[in-house]
Order: sequence, then C-alpha cells, then structure tokens
Amino acid sequence: MGRFEGANKISGETMYEYIVDRKGKPTHNCHAGCVISCSQVYNDKDGNFVTAGFEYETIWGFGAVCMVDDLDIIAQADRICDDIGIDTIETAVAISTAMEGGIIPFGDGQGMLGLLREIGKGSYLGRIIGNGAAFTGKASVLIG
Ligand code: SF4
Repeated sequence: MGRFEGANKISGETMYEYIVDRKGKPTHNCHAGCVISCSQVYNDKDGNFVTAGFEYETIWGFGAVCMVDDLDIIAQADRICDDIGIDTIETAVAISTAMEGGIIPFGDGQGMLGLLREIGKGSYLGRIIGNGAAFTGKASVLIG
C-alpha cells in the first residue's frame, strides 16, 4: 500500500516530544544496572503513566500496519498487551489480519483496542485473534 500517510504522527521524533512534554522518560533502564537504557516511560496527556518499553515494533505494528495514526491509542494497545501477557508484534499483525478480513476497518483505533480487550476476556473472537495472525487469517475468511 506504500508509505503510511500518518507516519509522522507516530514517529520516534513525535514520541520523544510527547514524552518530554508529559514529563515521562525518553530513556529508561528497565533492568537495574543496564547502561543502554533503551526503554522509556510514556504518559498520557494528563501526565499519568500508560506504558514503558514502548518499542518500534509495537508502534509499527499497531500503527502503520493497522493504519492507526494516534500514538496514545497505540500506547494503550501496548499496555493492554502487557497486562494480558501477549506479544505485541504477533498480536498487531493478527489485528491487521482481522482488519484485512473485514472484522473492523483499517484505521479503527478504538475497534483495535476493543479486539485486544476481547483477547483478555477470552471471548470466542478474542481467542481467535489471540491465537495469532495465521489462525486469525483462516478464521477471518469464515467470519469476516
Ligand atoms: S530492554 Fe533496553 S533498557 Fe531494558 S535491559 Fe535491555 S537494553 Fe536495558
């Protein structure tokens, strides 16, 4: 589909500005003693903690691949995945596969968060998506 039009809204530069403006931490060591500090602390617009270790793959997956151009929604997606204990790369691609299959439209950030919550609930749809991209693709053909 080419270059994502919303790329600048979810770029590293934009994320850095948000983090600094909201009194988060643009660098952070998630493990005591780590000198690399590739993690960070991402807060919401009110300065409340949302997530940490908010990485490129997560933003690429829930952002450009799902055509969601809102970093705050992507951060919530990261947090939900952390709380459930699921991998953001596989899950983001599973969500985009569900979009391709017509379950929700591309770019529907709130719908994306809803599907992630379904995984946490263990609903039938959530269990399908929680099984990953390949399984979601096969099922989307049947239920999309
Ligand atoms: S993920 Fe990054 S911050 Fe955390 S321990 Fe590894 S290098 Fe350090």
